[in-house]
Amino acid sequence: MHTRRAPLRAKKKSAAAHVPELIFGDLWEFDPAPETADPRLRDQYDLFIGGTFVPPRSGRYFETVNPATEKVIASVALAGPDDVDAAFAAAQKAFEGPWRKMPGKERGKYIYRIARLIQERAREFAVVETMDGGKPIKESRDFDVPMAAAHFFYHAGWADKIEYALPGCRVEPLGPVGQVIPWNFPLLMLAWKIAPALAMGNTIVLKPAETTPLTALKLGELLREAELPHGVVNFVTGAGDTGAAVMGHPAAKKIAFTGSTEVGKIIMRQTAGTDKKMTMELGGKAANIVFDDAPIDQAVEGVVNGIFFNQGHVCCAGSRLLVQESIAELFVEKLKRRIDVLRVGNPLDKNTDVGAINSRMQLEKIEELVESGVAQGATIYQPSCRLPGRGFFYRPTIFTAVTQSHRIACEEIFGPVLSVLTFRTLEEAVEKANNTAFGLSAGVWTDKGSRILKMSTLLKAGVVWANTFNKFDPSSPFGGYKESGFGREGGRHGLLDYAKVV
Ligand code: NAP
Ligand code: MG
Repeated sequence: MHTRRAPLRAKKKSAAAHVPELIFGDLWEFDPAPETADPRLRDQYDLFIGGTFVPPRSGRYFETVNPATEKVIASVALAGPDDVDAAFAAAQKAFEGPWRKMPGKERGKYIYRIARLIQERAREFAVVETMDGGKPIKESRDFDVPMAAAHFFYHAGWADKIEYALPGCRVEPLGPVGQVIPWNFPLLMLAWKIAPALAMGNTIVLKPAETTPLTALKLGELLREAELPHGVVNFVTGAGDTGAAVMGHPAAKKIAFTGSTEVGKIIMRQTAGTDKKMTMELGGKAANIVFDDAPIDQAVEGVVNGIFFNQGHVCCAGSRLLVQESIAELFVEKLKRRIDVLRVGNPLDKNTDVGAINSRMQLEKIEELVESGVAQGATIYQPSCRLPGRGFFYRPTIFTAVTQSHRIACEEIFGPVLSVLTFRTLEEAVEKANNTAFGLSAGVWTDKGSRILKMSTLLKAGVVWANTFNKFDPSSPFGGYKESGFGREGGRHGLLDYAKVV
């Protein structure tokens, strides 16, 4: 919760924790607190190829809108197959030129420089990320942008050290790599992709998502400032066809994709039979499991953070709450009280907790899945907060009386919607948590260390958080099991996906 009146906030917080019924009055009025930093945007962006911005050979442009206002922010070049060819030609030339031969310690200096420039321009990047994608400014300011910088810092350190981690081996770059990313963490996903690829000496062609291309294009400007050799990083903007051209390009020695399982499968079919190295970071339907000995109020905060962070547009979102039956009623009551005071609205306002849904298409997908939940018999709860008249917004939503066969318990909603299920024993919790096609993440809330260790071995998930959720660090590998994909990003594991070890 946020308020300008600190003493009242303290009082209200403790009331929320212990006497829920006292807090159900109207929300206090807040003065608007909009972030005002200049985003330094242009009206039109070309493709970033060979270290410079070039008009698309396709001659076509598309518009990117602000999902909170539905207003056009800028027009952006649409890369066709010829443009993707040009980007890979630039990447190949840069690879064979100075980049491949550059000692790791020199390469590392460029990566450090990128990290420092992101920090210097952090406010500007945060505003653009929020305008283009709809996420609350407090998240882009305090999470997306600092984490993106952290990824460059971390990987800069590896550029001249990887061989010390693999005694007796030689580590070589792969060549040009093709990368495609989604719209939920545009700059951060870009950092996850580019930083390890650069550290290992590869060159890059990356396609950002159609609805959120702007931070990548601004990063292109920043790479010029960092004087990165031309062609080492290239950005081709566009939609799915551009993505397919990047993934299928014969010059791409490795492809890295983050996005939906559905598109991941299309790419696997498209590239079957080639010798491309490949990593897939796909969807999720994580279980956040609360045992009856958990610190309840902390767990409520963790569950709220797990599903309402970034409007639930999070691959590892804790979208299924599994709560032990003996505390389920109390827990759900506290959860409802908590979401009653989430502030939904202008993403640029520093007090906003839940911003705009990324696009009309995504909003319609959320609406359709929520309707299916109601139709299949689950019980819906939504706070009565007012939503802005324009833009794509959705109320935080909790479903109880959910069964494992409901669509809202199986399918990735990728929105601010939590499905609550209950369990009696640890075995039942594990069985329900693992009863999904996905396996990206899970959360366990309990006082017992031994139970945490046991659960972390039994849960089929790439990451298991204990008494916390949505915690990330560049040194910690992230990735999935089953239909959540394969390969890891972050840490030493992530680096080795961008290298040949001989
Ligand atoms: P998406 O529809 O799969 O799109 C992801 C990217 O692929 C976008 O840039 C998209 O372009 C592009 N694309 C679409 N069709 C393509 C094709 N046939 N070939 C190549 N590229 C193609 O996913 P999304 O809706 O953007 O993102 C949400 C999904 O990403 C969720 O499922 C989420 O769980 C997953 N995700 C996973 C992770 C992870 O680390 N595991 C992290 C974040 C998100 P356009 O959007 O421009 O059309
Ligand atoms: Mg946009």
